[in-house]
Amino acid sequence: MELLHCQHLNMRRRSQTPLTNLLFNSFPKSHFISQFINSHKFSKKNSLISSYFSSVQINPPAAESNSPIRKKNGSKRWDKEKLRWFSGKLRDCAENRFLEEGKMVHKEIVDSGIELDSHLWVSLINFYAKCGCLSVARQVFDEMPQRDVVSWTALISGFVGEGSGAEGIRLFCEMHEEGVNPNEFTLATVLKACCLCLNLEFGKQLHGEVVKAGFFSDGHVGSALVDLYAKCGELEYAEKVCLCLPKENAVSWNSLLNGFALAGDDQRVLRLFCRMKETEMKLNKYTLCTVLKGCASSGNLKAGRIVHGMAIVSGSEDEEFLSCSLVDMYSKCGRADDALKVFRKLKSPDIVTWSAMICCLEQQGREQEAAELFSMMMSSGLRPNQFTLTSIVSAAKELGDLRYSRCLHACVHKYGFADETLVNNALITVYIKNGSFDDGYKIFNTMSHRDLVSWNSLLAGFHDNKSSDGLRTFKKILENGFKPNMFTYISTLRSCTSSLNSEVGKQVHGQVIKQSLDSDCYVGTALIDMYVKSKCVNDAEKIVNRLNEIDLFTWTAVISGCAQADEGEKSIFYFKQMQKDGVKPNEFTLAGCLRGCSAITSVNKGKQLHSFVIKDGHVDDPFVASALVDMYGKCGCIKDAETIFEAVESHDTVLWNTIINQYAQHDQGEKAIKCFENMLTKNVPPDGVTFIGILSACSRLRLTELGKKYFHSMTDVYNIPPTIEHYACMVDILGRDGKFNEAESFINQMTLPPNNLIWETLLGACKVHGNVELGQRVAEKLFQIEPEVDSNYIMLSNIFAANGMWDDVARVRALMSSQGVKKEPGCSWVEVNGQTHVFLSQDTSHLRILEIDEKLRELERKLVSVGYVPDTEYVLRNVSDVEKREILSHHSERLALCFSLISKDSNNKTVTIFKNLRICGDCHNYMKLVSSVVNKDIVIRDAKRFHHFKEGSCSCQDYW
Ligand SMILES: [Zn+2]
Ligand SMILES: [Zn+2]
Repeated sequence: MELLHCQHLNMRRRSQTPLTNLLFNSFPKSHFISQFINSHKFSKKNSLISSYFSSVQINPPAAESNSPIRKKNGSKRWDKEKLRWFSGKLRDCAENRFLEEGKMVHKEIVDSGIELDSHLWVSLINFYAKCGCLSVARQVFDEMPQRDVVSWTALISGFVGEGSGAEGIRLFCEMHEEGVNPNEFTLATVLKACCLCLNLEFGKQLHGEVVKAGFFSDGHVGSALVDLYAKCGELEYAEKVCLCLPKENAVSWNSLLNGFALAGDDQRVLRLFCRMKETEMKLNKYTLCTVLKGCASSGNLKAGRIVHGMAIVSGSEDEEFLSCSLVDMYSKCGRADDALKVFRKLKSPDIVTWSAMICCLEQQGREQEAAELFSMMMSSGLRPNQFTLTSIVSAAKELGDLRYSRCLHACVHKYGFADETLVNNALITVYIKNGSFDDGYKIFNTMSHRDLVSWNSLLAGFHDNKSSDGLRTFKKILENGFKPNMFTYISTLRSCTSSLNSEVGKQVHGQVIKQSLDSDCYVGTALIDMYVKSKCVNDAEKIVNRLNEIDLFTWTAVISGCAQADEGEKSIFYFKQMQKDGVKPNEFTLAGCLRGCSAITSVNKGKQLHSFVIKDGHVDDPFVASALVDMYGKCGCIKDAETIFEAVESHDTVLWNTIINQYAQHDQGEKAIKCFENMLTKNVPPDGVTFIGILSACSRLRLTELGKKYFHSMTDVYNIPPTIEHYACMVDILGRDGKFNEAESFINQMTLPPNNLIWETLLGACKVHGNVELGQRVAEKLFQIEPEVDSNYIMLSNIFAANGMWDDVARVRALMSSQGVKKEPGCSWVEVNGQTHVFLSQDTSHLRILEIDEKLRELERKLVSVGYVPDTEYVLRNVSDVEKREILSHHSERLALCFSLISKDSNNKTVTIFKNLRICGDCHNYMKLVSSVVNKDIVIRDAKRFHHFKEGSCSCQDYW
C-alpha cells in the first residue's frame, strides 16, 4: 500500500512538473525568487498577478464566446450570476487541475473589471492551491481587500493539501495574529498539518483550543485529533479521544486501528475491531485495508488473517483493491502460499502487487517461481519498476544461470533503471555469485552513486580470493568515508581468512571492537573462523568467551577450527560445552569433532562420538560417514573404517576418497585399487584426492606401469591437472622401483618446479636402494631449500652408514651441528583405557618406569635368543657401542609398547602406537620380532605412514 501511494505521488508530481515549470518560468526570475523567500511579507498593493497575465498568451476556447458575461454586461443581477459562473468554472478547473484553463478564467475576471465577492476570492485561492501554485495562491490571498476565516482556511488547506504541514501551521499563526478566529474546518485542517510534520506539541495546544471553542463534537476535528495522536504514537490519547467522540465515526476508528496495527499491538487491534462490530459501524473495505496495511508493516499475521476472514464475511474479498492489500499483507508476513492464493484470483494486479508477490517468493527461497511470475508479468505488458527488478535480480543470484542474469541486466537497461543504486547492487551480487566477477566489477565501476551496500556487494566477491584485494577494498570503504557495518566486517574477515592474513585480521578486529560489534554472533563467528584458520586458537577462544550468545554455526566454527588447527583436545572440549548449552550438533559439527579425535588419534573419544552419531541418526550422512572412516583409519583401526564404509548406502566422491586413501596408508593397496574401479563403475567422478590415494597404492604395490597409466589418465581422461603431491607420488613409484634415471627425467619434465616434497621422496628411495651418488646430490639440494630440517641430514647419514662410509657420516653430523640443527626428540603415544600416555625418547618420568624397564629387558632377552642384533648405525651420537645400544632400547615407541604390554587391557590383540618422527630401522626390525614373540599385532603410525607388524613381518615390506 505504501508503495502504491508513493507511486501515485510520483505520477502526480511528474505530470505536474511541466505545468508548474511553465508557471514559474513565466515570472521574472529574480523577482520571483525573492518573492518566494519572503513569501510571508508579500505586499498587499503589489499587483503581481495582473503583470503576470500580461506575459501569458491566452486564446479563449470557442465555448467561451457564448458565455453570459459578454451578453449581459453591466446589470447588477447579471453581475451576481457572472460571479457564480466564474466560481463554478474555477471549481471545475481546481477539481480537474486544469491550470491553463483556470488561468484564462482568472484573466477574464481581471479583464471584465468586475468587483470580486468573497466567494470568488476563495475560489481563486482554492484553484491555485489545488493546482499546486501555492505562491500564486498566497499572492491572490494578499490582494484580497478583506480576509475572513474562510479565505484563510482555503489558503491553509491549499498548503496542507500539498503536504506543507509546517507552512500550514505558520499561516495559522499568522491568522491568529490578525485576530481571525478559526472555525471547525480551520482546526481540522491545521490538525492535519500537525499530523503531516508530526508536530505533537502544537497539536496538543490545538486540542485545548478545540475544547475551548466547543468544536470537539465535530466529526472532522475529532478524527483529525485521533489521527494526529495515532500517527505520533500517542495511542493512549488517541483511544481516549476516539472513545469520547459523541458519534462513532469510522474515520477516527480507522486512524486508531492503523495506529495500533503499526505499533504491532495486535491484541488491541482485535479488541477495537470487536467494538467496531458491536457498534454496527460500517466496516467498509477501506477500514479493512487500513488494518491490513498495519498488519503488513508490523508483520502481524494473526490480525491479518482475522481481517481476511472479515473481508470474506462482508463480501468485499473479491474487490481488487482489498485483494491487493491482502497479497501485500501475506507477502510481508512471509506467507507465500496464502499470498499466491489471493493473487491468482486477481483479474489485473497492479505493478505494486506483482512486485510484492515476486519479492515474497524471492525472500522465501522460491526463486524459480519468482522467475516464472516475472515472465508472466512481462507478457501481461506491465512495465516493471525498480522494486520488481531488484527482487527478480536477487532471485537470479540463487538460480546460478549467468545467461538469465544477463537477460535481466538487459531488462534493467531497457526500462531505464541502469542508474538505480538498488538495482545495481543486486546486479553486482548476481554476477559475482554466478561466477562472473568481472561483470559485477564493471557495474560497480560505472555506478554514479554507490552506497555501503554497493561496496559490501563487491567485497563479498573477494571471500574466497587468496589475494589481498578484499583488504584493499576494505581500506577504500574507509577512505570513502563509509562506516562499515557487520556485513562489511564479515566479508573483510573472510578475506583475511582465505588469504591467511591474521595480522590484518587483528587490525580489523580492533575496528570491530571500536564499533562494539565484537559481541555480535555473526561477526564473532567470522572472527573465530579467521583466528582458527590462522592457527591462533587462543585468540579465537577469547572471542568465544565474549560472545553474548553462541549459536550452532559459531560452535561448529570453533569445533571444526580447533580440529583443523590440530587442537583436537580443545575441539572435543568445546563439543562438550555445546552439549551443556543444550545446542544440538548438526552433521558439520559432528564431522568437525570427529576430525578433532583423528588429530589426537583418540579412538576412545572417537568411539564415544560414533555412538552419539548413531543415536542422533546422522550415521547415513555422507559427510559424517567420511569423518568416521577417516577417524578410524587415522587411529589405526582400518577394519572399523571398512565396516563403516560398507554400511553407508550412498557413497560420494569424498567418502570414496577417504577409504581409498586409508587403504593406501595401511598398505592395503589391492583394496584401494578395487575401490577405485568400483567408484568408476558407479559413475562417481574421481578428483585430485582420489588420485593421491590410488597412486600411493600403486607405489606400495610396486605396480609401476599401472601407476603411470593412472597418472596419465588424470589429464587425458578426467581433466584433472596434477599438483605437486601427484608428482611426488610418481617420483615415489619410480624411486621405489629403482628407476632413478626415469625419476630424474620425470622431475625435469614436470610442469611445476620441484619442491622439498619431491626431493625428500627421492632421497627416501636413495636410502632404500643405497644410491649414494644420487642421494648425496639430492640431499645437497634439500640442505639449501630447508637447512633446518633434521630428517634430511639423518637420512643422508643413514645412506653413508649403510655403505660403511663412516667419514661421511661424521661429516654430515658436523654439518648438522654447524648449522645449529637439532634432532627433534622422538615422541610416541599410546591410548590405554581411554587415557593417552606420552613417551619421549630416553624418558624416565613415567610413574611405572621401573615395570616398563623390566619389560624392556625381558623382551630384549627373548629377542636376542631368536637372533636380534641391535643395529647401532641408527644412533648418530658419538658414544660407545654399549651406550648406543642403551639409547636404542629407550626409543620412545619401545617405551610406549612395553607400557601397553604391562597395562590392564593388555588382552587386546592389537597395540596401536603413534610417533611424531619416522621409525628408525632398528626399531622397525625390533617390532617385527616382537610381533612374533609376544603373539600380538603392533600398529605404528610414524610421520609418513602406518606399519602393521604381524607374525614377524611388516605391511610396508621394509620400504618407508
Ligand atoms: Zn628406533
Ligand atoms: Zn614397516
